[in-house]
Amino acid sequence: MAKQEFKSESKRLLDLMINSIYTNKDIFLRELISNASDALDKLYYRSLTDKKVKVKKDDLEIEIKFNKNKRTLTIKDNGCGMTKEELETNLGTIAKSGTLAFKEEMSKEDKANIIGQFGVGFYSSFMVSDKIVVKSLSVDSDEAYSWESEGVDGYTIKKCKKDDIGTEIILTIKEDNDEFEYSKYLDEYELKSLIKKYSDYISFPIKMEVTHHELVDEEKKKYEDHKEIETINSMVPLWKKPKNEVSDEDYENFYMDKFSDYDKPLKVIATSVEGMTSYKALLFIPSHAPYDYYTQDYEKGLALYSNGVMIMDKCADLLPDYFSFVKGVVDSEDLSLNISRELLQESNSLKLIAKNIESKIRKELETMLREDREAYNSFFKTFGVQLKYGVYNNFGQDKDKLKDLVMFYSAKEEKLVTISEYVSKMPEDQPNIYYASGSSIEKIKSLPQVEQVLDKDYDILYLTEYVDEFCITALQDYEGKTFINVSNNDLDLESDEEKEESKKNNEENADLLKTMKEELTEVSEVRFSNKLKSHPVCLTTKGDVSIEMQKVFDAMPNDLGIKAETILEINEKHPISNKLKELYKKDKDEFLKYTKILYSEAKMIAGLPIDNPTEISKLICDVISK
Ligand code: ADP
Repeated sequence: MAKQEFKSESKRLLDLMINSIYTNKDIFLRELISNASDALDKLYYRSLTDKKVKVKKDDLEIEIKFNKNKRTLTIKDNGCGMTKEELETNLGTIAKSGTLAFKEEMSKEDKANIIGQFGVGFYSSFMVSDKIVVKSLSVDSDEAYSWESEGVDGYTIKKCKKDDIGTEIILTIKEDNDEFEYSKYLDEYELKSLIKKYSDYISFPIKMEVTHHELVDEEKKKYEDHKEIETINSMVPLWKKPKNEVSDEDYENFYMDKFSDYDKPLKVIATSVEGMTSYKALLFIPSHAPYDYYTQDYEKGLALYSNGVMIMDKCADLLPDYFSFVKGVVDSEDLSLNISRELLQESNSLKLIAKNIESKIRKELETMLREDREAYNSFFKTFGVQLKYGVYNNFGQDKDKLKDLVMFYSAKEEKLVTISEYVSKMPEDQPNIYYASGSSIEKIKSLPQVEQVLDKDYDILYLTEYVDEFCITALQDYEGKTFINVSNNDLDLESDEEKEESKKNNEENADLLKTMKEELTEVSEVRFSNKLKSHPVCLTTKGDVSIEMQKVFDAMPNDLGIKAETILEINEKHPISNKLKELYKKDKDEFLKYTKILYSEAKMIAGLPIDNPTEISKLICDVISK
C-alpha cells in the first residue's frame, strides 16, 4: 500500500517533535501506558453494557517488553483496539483543528509551547524512536491492521496477523548520540522506575519481565539470574491513596499524564466526602487555557469512575459552565456501573456530587483570592472571562455565587480589584459604583466623562473586556450600591447651583439645540452640560444599552438592531459654546458644519465609526482654512 502523508500541520508538529525540542523525553512511556489504560477501560465498560462483548476484568493488562539487540520496546494491551479507520483518524492527524499558526522564525520556547498546546500524546514516541509499528485488532472488527511510520515522510496501513483483541505498539529506539542516551529505554531498571514514577496509579497491572539475582547455593555463595513476569505498578488510583502518602509531584505528574498538559496545574484540589453519597475527587485548575478552550470544540467534564472503573471520560454534568476549565477525576462507589449513561446522568447521587464539587471549587477559589493573590491573578487572567460569563448566563441565576470572584481594573489602584474591595474604599458621600468601558485602559482614561468622577475622588472600574459590561449589567448592584456607567447621561454629580445654571442655559438656547438635533438624526438629544472639564463634547447614553454594548451587538453576525440611545453633550464652559451661539445667529450654514464636526468628534472619542469621513474631513478643512 502506498505511503500516506500526514496532514500538513501534523507534519510540522511531528517535525518539531522528532527534532526533539521537548526536553522531557521520558514522558512518551506514560503517554503510551495511559492510552493503553484508556483502551482497557473502554473495553471493560463495553462488556458491561454490551452482552456480545465478554471480558474478565482480571485478564485486562498492559505488558511491556524490550529487546536490547533489536532495540525494540513494546507496549501491549488487550483493550478495545482500533479499526483500520480508527488507526487512520487517530494516528494520521495530530493537530485536529486548522488553527495552528506556525511562524517562520520560532524560538525554542515557541516550539515547546506548540507541542504542549496539542498534548504530546502518542506522537511523543517519535522523540525516542526511529520507527513505530502499531498492530491492532479492534473489538468491532475481524481483521487486524498494522500502522507503520518512520516519521515525517508518512505512514502506511496494511492488514496484519494478530489473534487477540487489543493493541501492540513496537518502537524501534534511536541509537545513542552525544546528547542523549536512548538506550536507557531498553534497560530493565530504567523502565521499571519510569513506570513506577509516572504510571503507578494505573488501575490495570503493568507487567514486565524482571530479573532477580538470587542466591542459589548458600555455601558456594553462588548467585543466579532468574527472570519472572511481575506487576510493576501498585494499581491503587492516586485519589484512593491517603493524602499524606501522595506528594505534590505525584499529583502534578498524574495531572500532566492524564490530561496531556505540558505544565503543572495551578491548583490541585483533593477531596473525599463520606455521607449519603460518598465520593473521592481529584480536581485541577490548569495554569493555562487548553489550546481549544475558547472554541466550540472544547468539551468540559470530569472523568467519572465507579469504584475505580471508568464510566465516562468527560462527564459534563459534573461541572457548571463557569468552571468548565476544571479537569479531574471523580470516583464514587454509589454510582451503579450497570446503568446506562443517560440514566446515570439523571441520578440524584450524580446531581449531589456535582453540587458539592461546584461549591468545593468555589471555596478553593475564594481561599486563593484571599490568601494567594498572585496565583489568583494568574488564574483570573486565564479564566476570569469564564466567570464573568457565568455571572450573566442563564439570566444571572448564578451571579450571587460568582460576584465575589470577579475582578475589574481600578482606576485609582491601577490593578484588578474585587467589587467588595472597591466598595470598602468608597468615600462616605459616594452614592454609586462607577464604571467606564472601552477597548483599552488608555482609551478609557482619556474619556471626557471619566474626569468628572475622578475629580470627586471616586474610583472607577475600567472595563476592557466585552463581557465586562454584560456582567456588570447582570449584577445590577452590590451591597445596595448601584453600578453606574460614567457615560450615563444623568450621573447627577453636579451641585444644585450648577444644575440650575445648566437648565437655564438649555432653556434659553432651546431653538439652537433643536436645530442641531434635527441635523443629527442619530442622537436623541443635544444639550449643553457642565459635567465636562477640559473636553468640548462627549456622547452619553440613556437607558440600558451603552455605547460599548452597542459595539458588541454591532459585531455580531446577525444584526439585532440594538442601538444605544445617545445624547450629544456640549461643554458650556468651553469657548465652542459661545462660538455656536454666535454662528446660530449669523451664519446657519456654518453653524450646521460645526454641528456635524462636533458630533463626529464625539463619536470618534467614543470609538464609534464615522460613516462619512470624506465629508467630515472636507468640512474641517473648510472651517480651518477660513
Ligand atoms: P489522546 O490520548 O490525547 O487522545 P493520542 O495521540 O495519544 O491522543 O491518541 C490518539 C487516539 O488514538 C486516542 O484518543 C485513542 O482513541 C487512540 N489510541 C491510542 N492508543 C490506543 C490504544 N493503545 N488502544 C486503543 N486506542 C488507542
